[in-house]
Amino acid sequence: MRRSPASQARPLTARECATLERIGRDLTHKDIAAEFGISINTVANLAANAYKKLGAHSAAAAVLAHRDAHPWCGTRIDFGPILERIKASRTG
Ligand SMILES: [Zn+2]
Repeated sequence: MRRSPASQARPLTARECATLERIGRDLTHKDIAAEFGISINTVANLAANAYKKLGAHSAAAAVLAHRDAHPWCGTRIDFGPILERIKASRTG
């Protein structure tokens, strides 16, 4: 059985992408919530959605999968000025 890479790589939203990037740096959901100005529950939801899209069952697996899948995120976020983009998308 062959699986198409295109169907496995579900694009993450900018927030899901940013959340996984933070998790990859060993930040907790609490840290991420404080940084983004959102609730811990929202962070957990973003992470859960990202895991599902990446077909990962753990944070570590999701972070690894995301490194490969990041080109499909479509956010053009370069793992740097993510917070500004999120702020912009929240207010816009
Ligand atoms: Zn990404």
